Amino acid sequence: MILVGPAGYPPGSKGGTNAIERTKELGLTALEVQFGRGINLSAERAMEMGSKAKDLGIALSIHAPYYINFNSKPETVEKSHDWLMRSLRIADIMDARIVVVHAASYMGSTSEQVTNRVIEAMRRVREQMELEDLHSIIGLETMGKLASWGTLQEIALVIDEVDGIEPVPDFGHIHARYGGNLRTSDDFQEVLDSVFQIHQGHLHCHFSCIEYTDKGERRHLLLETKEPDFALLAPLIRTISGDLTIISETPAPSEDAVRMVSMLV
Ligand SMILES: [Zn+2]
Repeated sequence: MILVGPAGYPPGSKGGTNAIERTKELGLTALEVQFGRGINLSAERAMEMGSKAKDLGIALSIHAPYYINFNSKPETVEKSHDWLMRSLRIADIMDARIVVVHAASYMGSTSEQVTNRVIEAMRRVREQMELEDLHSIIGLETMGKLASWGTLQEIALVIDEVDGIEPVPDFGHIHARYGGNLRTSDDFQEVLDSVFQIHQGHLHCHFSCIEYTDKGERRHLLLETKEPDFALLAPLIRTISGDLTIISETPAPSEDAVRMVSMLV
């Protein structure tokens, strides 16, 4: 089954449950709730959203705060742990399968050093989740800036060490990080093959077109800019036998999610 939806509430939504109704009206099947700039949802609202999503068949996921960084000073690492735990608690209440996170920046450290810090942080979060009986998956997103930790290879090292973690390939970010490498159907297939090498089962991913420099991602662009051209990815996704959720992160997330649905028919 392929599920498609926007990052954030569709325009005109009046709160979370209405956003789920709007998502359904648009013919979409997934919604990523954005805590990027803060966790602003009560347990009560989360519960309402969860039951509405269940009624309407909308798969919920959560994006954890952008300011999480597990490679930082101790206070920030502590806060990052807390922000991720709070996101995971809400995810559990609303029955969101996965919480997506930007784990760290290099800030002068080596790839190996940061990977080890992320492993340590994920172990601690998973232990706390076990104590609190929380069941969502933590999704480590592939990052678009060269200064950000999060290549597929780095994420694979964490997955080898800690249970309950999945890669979240972001095709726009991958395109930007490697200087516009997604040009052909084979290029996209190569990414999918490497993802499925490290992760089998339900795949959660992001798409957006993207502007980039030699430092990687600069800003997200509309699907119509074809940078990269997602018409190349759509037929590949259709042939995947397992479950896949694809979330639109373009500047018009809902409209481009609807475009993606029409490309997948
Ligand atoms: Zn993200």
